[in-house]
Amino acid sequence: MKELLITIDGPAGAGKTTVSRALADRLGYRYIDTGALYRAVALAAKSRQIDPGDDAALQQLCSELNLEFREINGEQRLFSNGQDVTDYIRTPEVTMLASAVSARPVVRDYLLGLQRSLGARKAAVVEGRDMGTVVFPDADVKFFLSASTEARALRRYEELRQKSKIAPRREDVERDMRQRDKNDSSRKVAPLKAAEDAIVIDSTQLTVDAVVDLMVTHILK
Ligand code: C5P
Repeated sequence: MKELLITIDGPAGAGKTTVSRALADRLGYRYIDTGALYRAVALAAKSRQIDPGDDAALQQLCSELNLEFREINGEQRLFSNGQDVTDYIRTPEVTMLASAVSARPVVRDYLLGLQRSLGARKAAVVEGRDMGTVVFPDADVKFFLSASTEARALRRYEELRQKSKIAPRREDVERDMRQRDKNDSSRKVAPLKAAEDAIVIDSTQLTVDAVVDLMVTHILK
């Protein structure tokens, strides 16, 4: 089969990460998590105490930032200026900050080139919010994965509960998710939306395997 570039966009908690990894495994492709890049910018902004509305400071930050995925023991890790930040970019605080910095054109412009160079070799499943619409408009197969807000909030809550020592409150998780949906869908640059030629899949009632099977069927068409 010809090597393809496959994009998966959708809101938080739709199952994009799990599905993208599984699909990449199934096809023997690389998996590229672009949300991690926005999170790494947010973490760097936080450590320098940069206000997410301060474009000049964000631009300066981006010009000094070197983000790189490295495969370590079969696991993909993200390095920011040589430091492994993989374990620090998933906190609720960095998550909300990532949503805020991702609305700034200076940040999106900086990450656009980096994302395009990561996908240039094809044979990749690229996950994000604007992969099919802005970053890779010519991708070979585009998916838009969604699910009901309640299902997405519940999944995120279970995930955080397993990962964190202090259990989050369900209503906080749902509130943050609604806020993030609003930020991502209403921002002026590259808002979250399905590309016109994307295949839309609602994962509310589907298992991960069922979603991946459905995707493979479309890819092989
Ligand atoms: O996918 P993830 O939840 O890790 O993304 C974190 C944040 O980064 C999202 O809330 C979104 O605001 C932003 N993002 C984006 N464009 C992408 C990927 C992520 O704006 N391609």
